[in-house]
Amino acid sequence: MSILKNALDSITVGLEDFESPDERRIISSTRNIFAGILLLFKHKLCELSPQGSDEALIKQRVLPELDATGAVNWIGKGKKTVDVQNIKDRFESLNISVDWARLDRINKYRNDIEHYYSTLNSESVKQLISDSFIIIRDFIVDELGGDPKSLLGEGYWKILVDVNEVYVKEKQECDLTLEKLNYYTDEILHALQEYHCGECGSGLLETEDLGEAAEATFKCRACGTEAHYDDIVNYAVNEFYADEAYSAHKDGGDTPVVDCPLCGFGTYIVHEGICVSCCGSATHECVRCGCNIPPEELSDGDICGYCAHMWEKMKAE
Ligand SMILES: [Zn+2]
Ligand SMILES: [Zn+2]
Ligand SMILES: [Zn+2]
Repeated sequence: MSILKNALDSITVGLEDFESPDERRIISSTRNIFAGILLLFKHKLCELSPQGSDEALIKQRVLPELDATGAVNWIGKGKKTVDVQNIKDRFESLNISVDWARLDRINKYRNDIEHYYSTLNSESVKQLISDSFIIIRDFIVDELGGDPKSLLGEGYWKILVDVNEVYVKEKQECDLTLEKLNYYTDEILHALQEYHCGECGSGLLETEDLGEAAEATFKCRACGTEAHYDDIVNYAVNEFYADEAYSAHKDGGDTPVVDCPLCGFGTYIVHEGICVSCCGSATHECVRCGCNIPPEELSDGDICGYCAHMWEKMKAE
């Protein structure tokens, strides 16, 4: 019972930090809520650990031991408990599902607010609270078979529900303003809808402009920071494709984005064949050999890297 109690305490203290008018408590709010969620997960692993295994499932080190009958038992060793990656691995292998993308977003925001953001306000923490609400609710109901409202207490539960409701509504309003603009490709719209303010981390980006997105100015609803399209679009699109770019780099495969071969400044979305900055399109099929030009070899010409090399050689001879 004690891990569960610690989990609930940590979440409720985090919500008190969030409600406090003292802005210095914002960081501790994100820390406490994230810690509380991890403790909920550990509680589940503890429950599933076999009796007499010394809570094997929450220990990083688990070693086999022989009992009196000669059977092998896996026993938890040491004080070190599982980290986020260990929990992911064990949950996956135990068929326990969690919305990891959402959890990673909470974790990233918690980390960024401690290290990068210059502006702290409770407005920008709302997405973290909203994400946390969904993870906490789903995990308590689906995996712990509990009632989140009675476990957390009605008052704290209401904070979560209300913040989530307000955040979802505000996010929809912001998204609608972004949807009114014209984009070179819809991928840019989707990237801007996932963009987080560089000053405060809020996901509430909106615009009052109409017409061409490339001419528009955008504003963070949480801290009021304004930015022109050119100031944020490359960062937003690179972030949007970051996971895909990472797995392409790690597992092989074509990278989704490259530096624009035409303007040298913008981000070029390869499968859309367009630069988000200059709107230019490179030639993707080599006119000399007919091959598909790999992303890294896209240029302002119309031949692949190999043919360009051969061309140079022929000229030299
Ligand atoms: Zn902001
Ligand atoms: Zn370009
Ligand atoms: Zn070629």
